[in-house]
Amino acid sequence: MSELYLKGIKETDPEVYGTLERELNRQQNQIELIASENIASLSTLNAQGSVMTNKYAEGYPGKRYYGGCEFVDQAEEIALQRVRELFNCKYANLQPHSGAQANQAVFLALLKPNDTFLGMSLASGGHLTHGAKPNISGKWFNAVQYGVKKDGNDKDLIDYDEVESLAVEHRPKIIIAGASAYPRIIDWKKFKIIADKVGAYFMVDMAHYSGLIAGKEYPNPIEFADVVTSTTHKTLRGARSAMILTNNEDIYKKINSAVFPGLQGGPLMHVMAAKAVSFGEALKPEFQEYIKKVILNAKILSETLVNRGFRIVTGGTDSHLVWLDLTPKNLTGDKAEKILEEVGIACNKNAIPYDPNPPKITSGLRFGTSAATSRGFNENDFKLVGEMISDMLDSLLLNDQESIKVAKETKNKVLDMCKNYPIYNRAF
Ligand SMILES: *Cc1c(COP(=O)(O)O)cnc(C)c1O
Repeated sequence: MSELYLKGIKETDPEVYGTLERELNRQQNQIELIASENIASLSTLNAQGSVMTNKYAEGYPGKRYYGGCEFVDQAEEIALQRVRELFNCKYANLQPHSGAQANQAVFLALLKPNDTFLGMSLASGGHLTHGAKPNISGKWFNAVQYGVKKDGNDKDLIDYDEVESLAVEHRPKIIIAGASAYPRIIDWKKFKIIADKVGAYFMVDMAHYSGLIAGKEYPNPIEFADVVTSTTHKTLRGARSAMILTNNEDIYKKINSAVFPGLQGGPLMHVMAAKAVSFGEALKPEFQEYIKKVILNAKILSETLVNRGFRIVTGGTDSHLVWLDLTPKNLTGDKAEKILEEVGIACNKNAIPYDPNPPKITSGLRFGTSAATSRGFNENDFKLVGEMISDMLDSLLLNDQESIKVAKETKNKVLDMCKNYPIYNRAF
């Protein structure tokens, strides 16, 4: 089906078709280490590029404001049933268009403007939408931010004592746990105890961890959290979208009205169908095997980098994330990201805790293993990837001629590895 659509694009709009083709080539020929990305299945892509694009379906299954919703209702019901099974929860809203909007819906449901909430700071590995100043969450609410320990045995780990003392001092209405760079297991229960102590709702944003949770390799927050939000396209490897889960009927009702009509109009039913497909994939035993490999590969990458003299923030990883501290090598994240991109290794600069450099420069890089593992990269490949990253970063100390040679060799190695693992066997 989708091949036909693309064929149509090639004929009617060669200009845009060219961008699609070049993007496919880029994805095929680069090693994708951007931690928030993954490679969705062809079935997910096809469902997303389907006829459900054409349908308006404001409202919820069985209670729509438009006619002709019989079949989009079925798609949404399938997605709902699968997601409840996947995360062992009672209620789900699958209509938020993105992770940021899912979080806004929770704020709309549970907060009033200027209310206080507690979230993890961006600088410690939290997300923009958890109270960062430039984001609506930091502009319209009184966002108090917790972080990680600066030193000692638990350096870089969440400072639960600080969470508790800030909660007691500020009496937030919501406490948010969840992060975008934090590679370790978060103790949901500890957060819940603190939230109960101050009468706050406990919200978990599991955007980065939801695939690991679906694969049963990371603790499921649903038994502790009042409300859980997540993207569906990161480790979960689904359509580009989001969801909100809860076991609390009262919160569920508030969330439903917050998403629609509070925040959004019509849901994206083609994305709903694609979510249903990808949740079906995540329910299969193969997905658990995939997630095991994702974590193993992250551990191998982390060890390889440590052996080459880098420091890993928190000392290692329990997830798909590897958070590299470049300060032992006197490098900045900005520079490191650029030279890796030149040889076809895609990743992003990321501030490290207590980073001396500004956010546009940073002293760290964030890697994730979910995308490359999806295309088949194994432990040995990730060891080689770690060596290539180290070769490139170390080459900055060499003279020009030598560093050009390293870059050339690395680029060829990247292309060779990518050839071994075609991402879509045909052009879509
Ligand atoms: C990625 C992410 C989001 C935002 O998701 P978008 O779909 O990009 O809006 C929200 N929270 C966390 C923790 C994330 O990692």
